[in-house]
Amino acid sequence: MVRAQVSMVMVLDKCIGCHTCSITCKHVWTNREGMEYAWWNNVETRPGVGYPFKWEDQERYGGGWVLENGKLRLKLEKENHYKPPSIEEYYHPFTYDYETLFTEELKDEQPTANPVSLLTRERIDVKWGPNWDDDLAGGDVYAKMDPNWRSVEKEIYLNYKGVFMFWLPRICNHCINPPCLVSCPRKAVYKREEDGIVLIDQVRCRGYRFCVTACPYKKVYYNWKTGKSEKCIFCYPRFETGQAPVCTESCVGRIRYVGVVLYDEERVEEAAKAPLEKLVQAQRDIILDPWDPGVARKARESGVPENFIKAARESPVYYMFKKWEIALPIHPEFRTLPMVVYVPPLNPVVTTLDRRGLYSADYRDVLPIIDELRIPIRYLANMFAAGNEEEVRKALKKLIAIREYFRMVNVEGKSKLEASRILEENGLSREDADLMYKWLAIGKERWIIPTSKKELRISIARRG
Ligand code: SF4
Ligand code: SF4
Repeated sequence: MVRAQVSMVMVLDKCIGCHTCSITCKHVWTNREGMEYAWWNNVETRPGVGYPFKWEDQERYGGGWVLENGKLRLKLEKENHYKPPSIEEYYHPFTYDYETLFTEELKDEQPTANPVSLLTRERIDVKWGPNWDDDLAGGDVYAKMDPNWRSVEKEIYLNYKGVFMFWLPRICNHCINPPCLVSCPRKAVYKREEDGIVLIDQVRCRGYRFCVTACPYKKVYYNWKTGKSEKCIFCYPRFETGQAPVCTESCVGRIRYVGVVLYDEERVEEAAKAPLEKLVQAQRDIILDPWDPGVARKARESGVPENFIKAARESPVYYMFKKWEIALPIHPEFRTLPMVVYVPPLNPVVTTLDRRGLYSADYRDVLPIIDELRIPIRYLANMFAAGNEEEVRKALKKLIAIREYFRMVNVEGKSKLEASRILEENGLSREDADLMYKWLAIGKERWIIPTSKKELRISIARRG
């Protein structure tokens, strides 16, 4: 059975940490009582602990799958670990007592609007929030607690000279193997057959919150007002009319790319059970080539509409994740097969090259510096490749190769043919380079969304 899955790529070098995505999402979907603390889209500073506090630590939260004697089991079930985060671990939502500014008696000092809880309306002492460690604020406290330091000498990177940072925007990954879905005793969580979007049926949900625990990314939120759980819906009402999700449409850095991929449903379990070091490749292997006539035929037999097959052929996600292998899934070791994938950051390659005087040198000197980039490969591998450093090296090498190729052509005046050696050595063609440049550098075309209204899709897909 061939299935279609909507998915997203985020190119981390382009994120400027402006939080526009979070704010637009909040205004459209969670700006109401019961969801004050919920950020379906949030942007974290790394290294850091994220939101909710240390969400990646499954010894604390019990999310994801574990592989035991060749079988996949929910970690929450195996360890009897039911622990949705507390409001303190998310944060206590607050506003300010602005009324005081108008009603305070006349005094020598200016009146102050103090923080008050949005839940109890009482005055509170704010000690933690979803962006508490934004831009490395409190880096010596929070950056140290980042779980991705495994096997990295973190002290080197936490001093002023060695420090690095990047932003990590997060939404629900609309996983191919979603533990939130399996954990629900009411079968309220479901994955749409037509596009793989994971939703919660608000009528069936009884607010047991097993899904909140089971999701290792902590992207299901309990609405205390309705007594039901809610999550990112990939803006499906927009998607169905050919529009990108609001986080994507509003993204200032143009870092988000949306597309459809086709995958082989029969091989999902095998992929989710792969050995740790092979998890990324196993996930890639179940993504099918939409240009293959056999795949297209099977997709049609499985009920995938023609416009989805066509969209899969133009999908930036297919190219970045499967063909070019420059995008990686976040924490594949949770075995969820997440379908939001990330192009890891180089951060900053120019300074590193300049420091070593390499920009004037032959490109062969450039690629070996991959291990000297500011962000340790091991740190990125812990976050995006279940510890497999080679997957990260491969992706970063390709990103450097593309930069070098265009530099040779545009700055050094070399012919495309001559410069293309660096591409070939990294498994890329000149056509790949042109397409990468069009998508990643210019970034006007960032989503290809299938809809029955073809004229709408084309006009939207071409919008910058
Ligand atoms: S990210 Fe979490 S909520 Fe979203 S599909 Fe995966 S397990 Fe479910
Ligand atoms: S809107 Fe885009 S650039 Fe700004 S924080 Fe969100 S993902 Fe990053």
